[in-house]
Amino acid sequence: MKRITLLGLFICFATAVISCSKTELAAPEPPAGGNGDDTQTEDTTTTPLPPEEKPAYTVINQATEGRGIDVVFVGDGFTQADIESGKWEAAQDTVRKYFFRWEPIKSYKHLFNVYAVPAPYDGPSLHGGVAKGDTIRSRMCTYTSSFTPQSVNKEATFAYAYEQTPVKEQKGTPKDMFVALIINTDQGWGGWCTSDPFVDRPGWGRALVPFGIFYRFLYGMFTHELIGHGIGEFSDEYVQYGKDDEVFPDGEMGKQFYLKHQKEKKLYQNVTFTTDPNDTEQFLNPAWAEMIRRGYRGVGTVEGAVYYGKGVWRATEHSVMVGNGLFENYNYFNPVQREILLRHIYELAGKGDEYSLDLFFEYDKRNEAYDQHPNETNLP
Ligand SMILES: [Zn+2]
Repeated sequence: MKRITLLGLFICFATAVISCSKTELAAPEPPAGGNGDDTQTEDTTTTPLPPEEKPAYTVINQATEGRGIDVVFVGDGFTQADIESGKWEAAQDTVRKYFFRWEPIKSYKHLFNVYAVPAPYDGPSLHGGVAKGDTIRSRMCTYTSSFTPQSVNKEATFAYAYEQTPVKEQKGTPKDMFVALIINTDQGWGGWCTSDPFVDRPGWGRALVPFGIFYRFLYGMFTHELIGHGIGEFSDEYVQYGKDDEVFPDGEMGKQFYLKHQKEKKLYQNVTFTTDPNDTEQFLNPAWAEMIRRGYRGVGTVEGAVYYGKGVWRATEHSVMVGNGLFENYNYFNPVQREILLRHIYELAGKGDEYSLDLFFEYDKRNEAYDQHPNETNLP
């Protein structure tokens, strides 16, 4: 079956003026049936470097509790001169500044191991993009005038992140590791999150998000892509242009596909296929259902999500997974999304047994003002 080769690839330019790309959507958008074109394995071997050439990783944050949730920022396109001139340091400062900016990541910083490591690179500058017809190869990517999911050598990027940081020694498996490929460029070069929650893919971490670290619209790469799709395993919540009146397709590659994965793998818990919180067959996020029953902070069901206008619901009008208008930039995680994130954080930190919905409500007291003014997440 095609399904087992499905690659969870969410494409969206979360912070760009155009909220999301609609032409490059791949699985699991139903009913396309997935695409298998993202499984290329060309040139996956990374030649081991002699010790003196091994770039040292930086510990951006060290977990002080739990097993440590590993997030590795791999730098690409940084030459030795860039490292010496401070550009690599500037990139790491951006990570320091933004990764822990949003709740609940902010309050649970002590559960994360965050590393940064540059991949050796001696090619031309990637600032300003690549001229048409040119090809620049790094260890991690093949850069041309257009940057697509196929531009990234995912196996090589995961392997490098795993082997050049303490993840390998401490965990012995890359499977729970998150990787962001931060490219030394002012170009967007990203806006998607690659993961494969449907199969065990040897050598892969949980998610891979590439982006230009000096890109003007940077927030969404951290919020929508890395935290939302990556850590939250959220679906997109936006409606594709022209699909406002289209009903979410039923069937094996549509609604049934989503329900199955909501049920079996607890994926996509930020969307629902019924407005009845007591319908336990179809409303598969019990925490969200409970929030509706309690009338919790504006949480309800708003029709339109996962690219379709009808027959599928999100929890709030605006949020980081809905996307952005021209002058709005909602980096707002709503209560349903925060709850999923916090639950995942506890599980990833090896503290799943300590988690409960009551714990979330207690934690969430600090976010009340935030829920009253979600568009204030626009502010720097
Ligand atoms: Zn998205």
